[in-house]
Amino acid sequence: MLTNIFVSSRRKCVGVKVGSVIIGGDAPVVVQSMTNTDTADEISTTQQVAQLARAGSELVRITVNNAESAAAVAGIRARLDAMGCDVPLVGDFHFNGHKLLSTYPECAQALAKYRINPGNVGHGKKRDEQFSTLIEIACKYDKPVRIGVNWGSLDPEMLARIMDENARLPQPLDAGQVMRKALITSALESAAKAEELGLPRDHIVLSCKVSGVRDLIAVYSELARQCDYALHLGLTEAGMGSKGIVASTAALSTLLFSGIGDTIRISLTPEPGGDRTREVIVAQEILQTMGLRAFVPLVAACPGCGRTTSTYFQELAESIQAYVREEMVDWRDQYDGVENMTLAVMGCVVNGPGESKHANIGISLPGSGENPVAPVFVDGQKTVTLKGDNIAGEFRSIVDEYVRARYQKKSVNV
Ligand code: SF4
Repeated sequence: MLTNIFVSSRRKCVGVKVGSVIIGGDAPVVVQSMTNTDTADEISTTQQVAQLARAGSELVRITVNNAESAAAVAGIRARLDAMGCDVPLVGDFHFNGHKLLSTYPECAQALAKYRINPGNVGHGKKRDEQFSTLIEIACKYDKPVRIGVNWGSLDPEMLARIMDENARLPQPLDAGQVMRKALITSALESAAKAEELGLPRDHIVLSCKVSGVRDLIAVYSELARQCDYALHLGLTEAGMGSKGIVASTAALSTLLFSGIGDTIRISLTPEPGGDRTREVIVAQEILQTMGLRAFVPLVAACPGCGRTTSTYFQELAESIQAYVREEMVDWRDQYDGVENMTLAVMGCVVNGPGESKHANIGISLPGSGENPVAPVFVDGQKTVTLKGDNIAGEFRSIVDEYVRARYQKKSVNV
């Protein structure tokens, strides 16, 4: 008998409300992203937040690193609201968050969540005071906090303490184990301190980011075992291009498959001038290809081989994926379930008809030496054969018609 390996139960954790979005509890895993504009530049930051939200980011984090950026936050919120974009904003604070949130109450109010890094809050006595100030402000404005530990900025005093304790053990841990223990200890001790200061458990999200895939899996597996706080997953400094995508996918999918993770962010380095929304698309595709959520109809396409020398099927696959992603912005408000639609664009007769029949809509393009015709399959049945110069346009029309006919119109609240 085949074992059903797909029944992995999600780790139970306390849900955290961030504006209109829930992280953890029974909520689906949330996609988030971060801007790379200067937050003091209200217009370009507003535009990028709106772009990320339009791409599907359910929370957007912005850097709040100086007086100018703190002063701009309320304006960014107001501009987004005026555009009808209600995505919750998360403020990212390091070193001076206590001062900025105290000095700019409108910033403290406009943000839906604060992210603080216990390693960058201050040192010694100041650390405790400044951490307390941050948590008191979060309590005052009823805002949740992500306690986001990062191995590049671990609290040095805590690390020294753990190294001393380790050195006294009969069998000391190795350096990697000590680092992982320090990350988890920093997150859990900071969360306990925040609770002592009055921040409720359902206002706390934890993260412990590292840049190594195996380390990340080890850290979060242990963190998940030790607590029931909602967890933010992300591989820090994942890198550029395929390396960043592969490393993030390897790490996050392993954890998600074990039921660990309540919100994810993919820390991709964009190419110069590259599109920041890429990190949102990758996050969605990880969740969707794992069967955890559906965001946008995905296009299955064959890789191509010597049986087709034409690049037409690759161009069609790319253009139809871009088309449905763009249309989805309106479709998701109009049609129930359209995000589950599947499409296939195939390069020749070998696997073309078979794969096309498995999709809601599939097209099998002609390989080398085959008749220059492209049969289209809708819900497993061949409905039409396309030919000529406008196959792409006609295929898009078939997709549009299918969406209108197949998916229930959403009722509009008046
Ligand atoms: S469907 Fe045809 S063109 Fe595509 S990979 Fe398979 S054999 Fe090659």
